[in-house]
Amino acid sequence: MQARFEIVKTMKLIFASNNTHKLDEVRQILSPIEVLGLRQIEYFNEIEETGDTLEANSLIKAQTIWDWLCKKGLTTTISGVLADDTGLEINALNNAPGVYSARWAGIPSNDNLNRQKALAELAGIQDRSARFRTVITWISQTGIQQVDGIINGQMATEESGEGGFGYDALFIPQGYDVTFAMLSAEEKNSISHRARALHQLRTLLEL
Ligand code: IMP
Repeated sequence: MQARFEIVKTMKLIFASNNTHKLDEVRQILSPIEVLGLRQIEYFNEIEETGDTLEANSLIKAQTIWDWLCKKGLTTTISGVLADDTGLEINALNNAPGVYSARWAGIPSNDNLNRQKALAELAGIQDRSARFRTVITWISQTGIQQVDGIINGQMATEESGEGGFGYDALFIPQGYDVTFAMLSAEEKNSISHRARALHQLRTLLEL
């Protein structure tokens, strides 16, 4: 047990995202594993998400950073690259916005406008059931693996809460009567789609 903890403590992962909210969550969920963001490795380009599934976009992000690290000869200093692509799937809207969640209200991506659009699209609709789905891609010397995590819930009729990011102020996870944005970071990170996907990854990697 102690030996595994020591291995985990010496691991160094790169999280292929510029989203600081996601990075904070991934760090908290994977603690004590060290997770570096793109700024820390001085990668400042935008990665274009040209896929039409969460799986494809998650892979594009992880592969872009892995290839960049390979070119620089840096893959021996890290354990692997991790990328997350997440979608909000609303049942009454045929699972929209899904893979287009970031750009739903237009480009550049704007969380506030996206939440307003969700409220407008759901005006007068009774069925407010929805889910978040995260696909995590892991690339290391041993190859590529993907896992996903889902949390079901309901879309609120108005925004509440100051925490979280993205659609959190509108999403009430199943079994709760408050939005993700009203939960503490620890509470969200103990039940979220992202936490579920990352726990699967830990199981897969035996961490
Ligand atoms: P992407 O995975 O970065 O493409 O994010 C898709 C969209 O979902 C963005 O608008 C994010 O703000 C939003 N999003 C991603 N993860 C979460 C989350 O955990 N809670 C709420 N919104 C999220």
